[in-house]
Amino acid sequence: MNLNILHLYPKEMNLYGDHGNILTLRKRCEWRGIKTRVIAHEPGQPLPNDIDIIFGGGGQDSGQSKIEKDLVRIAPELKEMINNGTPALVICGLYQLFGEYFETSEGQKIQGANILGVTTKGGPTRLIGNITINTPEFGEIVGYENHSGLTELKDDTLAFGTVVSGSGNNGEDMTEGAKYKNCIGTYLHGPILPKNPRVADFLILKALENKTGKSQKLTVLNDRIEQRAHKVAVSRPR
Ligand code: GLN
Repeated sequence: MNLNILHLYPKEMNLYGDHGNILTLRKRCEWRGIKTRVIAHEPGQPLPNDIDIIFGGGGQDSGQSKIEKDLVRIAPELKEMINNGTPALVICGLYQLFGEYFETSEGQKIQGANILGVTTKGGPTRLIGNITINTPEFGEIVGYENHSGLTELKDDTLAFGTVVSGSGNNGEDMTEGAKYKNCIGTYLHGPILPKNPRVADFLILKALENKTGKSQKLTVLNDRIEQRAHKVAVSRPR
């Protein structure tokens, strides 16, 4: 089995260890005898049509403006893949831009792919620090956030989780991230996957199921070190 991982804009959108998510996906596949290929997508390139997992990290407002035009161009293809069940993980800057738009604190409106039902506006202060959330699907998730954007979920949009400690989508309504089909949008850098391997395995399992059209079981891995890392991170709330 071979899984193709699409890495969106690795040059412009990669903050606070986001690339570690790709390493985690590859390692957890390798430990199970699943081969992976990472395809970096840069502005202007065509999208390959055999993508199994979509990943995108965070970025400065300036990085977000650089990729805006290209993201809007490929949005219909990304949307179709996600509607067909392709798993995706988008962090912070790309989480915002998988929504409708991100309006910066200076009033610049950056259009998004409009896949997740969220809108974001730059706020007066940056929300920075460790964050712990509770999710219905994966239990406790821990990471690190650093954003000025305040995100609002539209009425029918599901949150990824509820804030236990930290700020999340907007520091007000306790929601964190958004989930649509197998697409997770979240503010959690850190990177998120090494310390929360259940989320990594969700992406891998959904990719295998999507590819084969059959339900699958993943080999259970020894996650003792990952769980310790998770506990240590949770023990340092801000
Ligand atoms: N530029 C965006 C913000 O500040 C995203 C930041 C990020 O990806 N960490 O809200």
